[in-house]
Amino acid sequence: AKDSGGGEFREYEPSLHASAEERRQLEFSLRNALKNEELSLNYQPVVDANTEEVVSFEALVRWNSDVHGPVSPGKFIPLAEDTRLIVPIGKWVMQQACCEAAQWPGHIGINVNVSPEQLTEPDFATSVVHALSHSGLAAERLEIEVTESIFLRDANVARRALEQVMALGCSVALDDFGTGYSSLGYLRKLRFSTIKVDQTFVQGASQASAESLAIINAVVAMARSLGMTTTAEGVETAEEAEMIRSMGCNKIQGYHFGRPMLAAEARQVFEREEAR
Ligand code: C2E
Ligand code: CA
Ligand code: CA
Ligand code: CA
Repeated sequence: AKDSGGGEFREYEPSLHASAEERRQLEFSLRNALKNEELSLNYQPVVDANTEEVVSFEALVRWNSDVHGPVSPGKFIPLAEDTRLIVPIGKWVMQQACCEAAQWPGHIGINVNVSPEQLTEPDFATSVVHALSHSGLAAERLEIEVTESIFLRDANVARRALEQVMALGCSVALDDFGTGYSSLGYLRKLRFSTIKVDQTFVQGASQASAESLAIINAVVAMARSLGMTTTAEGVETAEEAEMIRSMGCNKIQGYHFGRPMLAAEARQVFEREEAR
């Protein structure tokens, strides 16, 4: 799955669950997806674990292809990363998410996922500056989500890019914590504001899988001593939410509090909260 440079030869990529031919067709369509306005954003609420009030929304990209119908991000994001189409797509996501969030009350933040391929583009920080100034969104309301994979290649380039946007006032979250090639050393390399505990540890937390609970407890304690907050992902039931809250996680995200939704539905969420 490595970039073959000229783009002529590609290794079989099992994680895509697609044949070479299907992949070729998807890539062709994805090249035109932005221009054809087939991409859109959903927004999923992140709530304060104690008050259950919405603190931010995570922007999640959706692709409804004219040819293929809806294609899941689990399928097209890896393809977009391999082909570097994630660079223009990611810029569009950043612009769109900042413009939407700028319409929200000032205390509500926006989380935007950023792939390693975006961070190694020389103009990443500039594109964030543009998205902020064009939308009028305060930098403090933008949190960028990255995974440990940014440390695998060009780690210093990625880190410098993130430090540039942190200097603007943005924060950076470490996403999918515990699923990658976890080395705790990564936590020393960047001042992450938040560690997002992956949903694989969270799901079934109420059925008290002793191992998952021990891991969540340890991550919460570690984050706290590093001055970072924790967000638990994939919380689907009230029992899981209560378990997570009692373990001291700061924020919760998951179907129990809200699925990824349209921008208009997201606005209704905090309008309803304000009316209370
Ligand atoms: P992620 O960043 O870890 O996003 C969370 C995923 O978990 C989302 O899947 C969300 O819909 C799903 N989820 C949220 N709550 C629950 C729950 O309670 N239960 C379960 N089972 N799932 C839940 P989605 O939207 O399919 O996105 C998949 C991945 O695609 C994301 O994982 C992220 O890595 C990537 N992605 C999505 N949008 C973007 C984007 O704009 N840029 C980049 N670079 N990657 C993106
Ligand atoms: Ca994320
Ligand atoms: Ca995640
Ligand atoms: Ca994930």
